[in-house]
Amino acid sequence: MKNIIDKIKKMPMGHIPMGKILPKKMKDFYANTGDKPIYAGFKNKVDVHAGISGKMVLNTKGLWEKISCLPDTSERRALYVHIPFCLARCKFCSFYQGRSKEEDISKYVKYLIKELEMTAESKFAQSKPFNAVYFGGGTPTDLSVDEFDLILKTINTRFPLANDVEYTIEGRNYGFGDGKIEACLKNGVNRFSFGVQSFDTEIRQKMGRIEKKEDLVKRLEDITSKYDVTVSIDLIYGLPGQSQEKWLEDMTMAYELEGVDSVSVYNLKYLPGSPIKDLVKQGKLEEPATMREQADLFLFTKDFFNRANAKRLGLRHWAFSNRDRSIYNFIPKYDQTVLPVGCGAGGRVGNHKLMQRMEVEKYYQYLDEGRKPIKFAVEIKNDIGINGHFIGSLEEFLQIDFKMAAKKFNQPDLIEMYKPLLEQWEESGMITFDGQTMKLTPASEYHNVNIQQNMVEYFNWKKNGK
Ligand code: SF4
Repeated sequence: MKNIIDKIKKMPMGHIPMGKILPKKMKDFYANTGDKPIYAGFKNKVDVHAGISGKMVLNTKGLWEKISCLPDTSERRALYVHIPFCLARCKFCSFYQGRSKEEDISKYVKYLIKELEMTAESKFAQSKPFNAVYFGGGTPTDLSVDEFDLILKTINTRFPLANDVEYTIEGRNYGFGDGKIEACLKNGVNRFSFGVQSFDTEIRQKMGRIEKKEDLVKRLEDITSKYDVTVSIDLIYGLPGQSQEKWLEDMTMAYELEGVDSVSVYNLKYLPGSPIKDLVKQGKLEEPATMREQADLFLFTKDFFNRANAKRLGLRHWAFSNRDRSIYNFIPKYDQTVLPVGCGAGGRVGNHKLMQRMEVEKYYQYLDEGRKPIKFAVEIKNDIGINGHFIGSLEEFLQIDFKMAAKKFNQPDLIEMYKPLLEQWEESGMITFDGQTMKLTPASEYHNVNIQQNMVEYFNWKKNGK
């Protein structure tokens, strides 16, 4: 048993945020003082998304049947489809599951269709329309034209989708030819999310990305000029060899590329399982930006997009047009339904967070046995929804209206309860609080995951004593 739990602790969690369960004292929630707030931060900067803890369920036999016979009561919901293959491994990635080989992908697609069909049969899946469909990975853009056609048609005919569903394919534009794009668009896809990470050829090659800057830019220009589709790109700052000037060039390129609707910006994360740390240790890569340098780069980024009059779509997402609704990005943050399908997919169904089998062979085995391939689950007991509301509000609006939350979740003592914490955070420059609304400062925008995690853990500590 200990072995299993150790393995689970080391696994990348997909969409399953796992809060730490630790004994807490009041000061454990405090922000550090004695330096500029953005440098002082919290004891340990938490980089992976914040989340809600619960009871681990390791025996998942019969679980799907139990939870999927109930209707969905979530305000919004998404269908998440995972394609766990990539052409090559990016050096910063800890989510890599395997190399894309045509025969592997086509076998996988057969099983994926089987899982989609079995999942769609449930009362839970049919109980209301999905507001978003998201293909993540891995690299979904490595699917072939016929595979796209088959998977998308299966979804469109089996699942109830909202009339204005946001339908996203994530991946790279390398190898994502016109035939694939047209197969996606004719089947209802209306948004592409491309992981550019950096435009700089040298940095891209060091990070294991395939295309040179010129080819990448040309392909993005082709796609955005030819097709009527929302295009969002991801960039990373703090990469090895990426000076502030190079980062400025990346942001400028994203801004100037006609037809790119929005950009999501992430700091480089040293996640367990990503090769970058070892390569730096072996002297094969330059040191990436330190935490302090990353903090400076974050302020620089904010300033750049403010000057560019870009619209803030959330903590790390800026838009240059009004097309990107970014619906999927917020659904898991608010802890709303994410129905997972695919090997390594994670999500939330009713009061259970689910993590599906990550090993392809096990995934096939479960489906051969007629089982939804759930590896483990976390049962969230007595969830009144307030924790998801905190995280979602901070992610989307960078603030929390405590009076509104107190009313919505019937917690009349909410402001009183949080007052000592809010006072300390305000004194240390992490937030402002006017008696009703807590707003993030640039320091806590950077340390947002700590703020979110502490908000959630503080609520549990005060209400449940843990
Ligand atoms: S970052 Fe994306 S494309 Fe790169 S290896 Fe990881 S999952 Fe694959």
